[in-house]
Amino acid sequence: MEKIIILKYAELSTKKANINFFLKTLKNNIDSSLMWDHTINYDRGRMFIIVSEDNIDKTIDVLSYIFGIHEIVIGFIDEDRDFNTITKNVLDLIKTQEFKTFKVETKRSDKDYPLDSMEVSKTLGGIILKNKECKVDVHNPEITIHIEIRKDAILYYTNGIPGLGGYPVGTLGKGLLMLSGGIDSPVAGYLTIKRGVKLSALYFESPPHTSEEAKNKVIKLARILSKYNPNMTLYVINFTKIQEAILRNIPYEYLITIMRRMMYRIAERIAKSENSKIIVNGESIGQVASQTLTSMSVINNVVDMPVIRPVACFDKLEIIDIAKKIKTFDISTLPYEDCCTVFVPEHPVINPELSKCLEYEKLIPYEELINEAISKKQVIKIKEEEKQFEDIL
Ligand code: ATP
Ligand code: MG
Repeated sequence: MEKIIILKYAELSTKKANINFFLKTLKNNIDSSLMWDHTINYDRGRMFIIVSEDNIDKTIDVLSYIFGIHEIVIGFIDEDRDFNTITKNVLDLIKTQEFKTFKVETKRSDKDYPLDSMEVSKTLGGIILKNKECKVDVHNPEITIHIEIRKDAILYYTNGIPGLGGYPVGTLGKGLLMLSGGIDSPVAGYLTIKRGVKLSALYFESPPHTSEEAKNKVIKLARILSKYNPNMTLYVINFTKIQEAILRNIPYEYLITIMRRMMYRIAERIAKSENSKIIVNGESIGQVASQTLTSMSVINNVVDMPVIRPVACFDKLEIIDIAKKIKTFDISTLPYEDCCTVFVPEHPVINPELSKCLEYEKLIPYEELINEAISKKQVIKIKEEEKQFEDIL
């Protein structure tokens, strides 16, 4: 008898024509995350991973951070195909499991096996009932014992642990996340990675108005995201000159609107330079003056690529809930100033006018300043955070 890890696919199982691309990417993502010997086989229904017994727990931990997996199950393969041995092993397997209702589901692809599917399910079910206090429930059982009788072996398994769901990272192309030290943008990043988008991140700093600690906080957040999105690049843009030029020349109530238009311009240029197709940020409708619909539309006006706002329709408590689950909350709430918060006017405009923005922007040589900031960008390769393998979303 040999142990085998079985993966059930998440949403990708609904893909038809290009399912192979999704499966291949999932396999590659798993391949590059497992740092020990392993074999991966797959078909359209499931993926099978074989590792040495010692590495099974570690492998399951790694898999619990990989998008595209609906369920992770430990199965057993028995090449002898002897029904009595299998019965004994199944009893062993369920001994430690807590359940009150169960069913046995048998599939038999080897039609020459002496027992047919019904007989296997019935006999095994009867033996389980004698050995454990439980009942059969064929409609809504707490656990299902699967038996698959194949020509080469019998495979059996019960319930597994939930995977993260979503699409394998990279299957939907690339995006650039505007990552601040706040609560919202790491959550926005996580949700986008879950949709199969490989992310890079962009952070605007304003030294000396913002501190090195503020930047370290963003690096820490990027490290958490990189657990799901390996080999993440973080671009850091020094925004000080642009921000000071805005502060000197732009009417106070328009500071944030113009500042965000500059951020978007830079984000688009960086996104295009690395072939990212979308900009992602943590804006949420109505959260602050720059996130009213008019503000968002006036700010969005400077770019011609899609801006995805995964938390646009979440309220703050819903966002915080996810931030806690992915363990970014405690870092996001460390008290360091961000460049958006350093110069916030008391009464920012709620309904900015595009024509005014265009007028005001003539007062600063922003093209020049943007070029300079981009040419001096810092590129940080994020080292993956040690995985903590706790309960995650
Ligand atoms: P909070 O959780 O406190 O709202 P926030 O990061 O969401 O923090 P906002 O002022 O709401 O702050 O900014 C909206 C979005 O703009 C952020 O979610 C982020 O995507 C982007 N952003 C803001 N400041 C920066 C920055 N310094 N660098 C990169 N992106 C930023
Ligand atoms: Mg916010």
